[in-house]
Amino acid sequence: MKKTTRTMSKSKHIALVAHDNYKPELLRWVLEHKTKLQSHTLYATGTTGAMLNKDTGLKIKSMISGPMGGDQQLGALISEGKIDILIFFWDPLNAVPHDPDVKALLRIASVWNIPVAANRATANFLVTSDLIESEVSIEIPDYQAYLAERL
Ligand code: PGA
Repeated sequence: MKKTTRTMSKSKHIALVAHDNYKPELLRWVLEHKTKLQSHTLYATGTTGAMLNKDTGLKIKSMISGPMGGDQQLGALISEGKIDILIFFWDPLNAVPHDPDVKALLRIASVWNIPVAANRATANFLVTSDLIESEVSIEIPDYQAYLAERL
């Protein structure tokens, strides 16, 4: 597929999602990195966002709850180039009712080549990278070329 680039600004749009068993883990991670995170725009699925807002005081743009469509809302924002980073502490040990939505969110994040952290170690690498506070250019599919090939 032909590629183009998009530029992420210094201040990133970061989506935060955690399955129920991992919400305490995400809260602990967000508290550890609160100073850094507050200079970015934060998004989350419904329950994750409400919990983070209540327990950290951070301003979060919350979607609807994940199982009710929130993962898909985040996926739509990713495909529109409106989310730069996905921190998704999904549960590898328990089934969730919205597994297709979870897969779809991870899939669309790969399609649009955004950095994804599925665990604390990767999230730490991302948040401590110099790139978190720099303008970054990423390769993305060239949608106009994709469309033109199909007409
Ligand atoms: P929730 O959704 O934040 O509303 O719990 C998380 C998820 O996508 O499973």
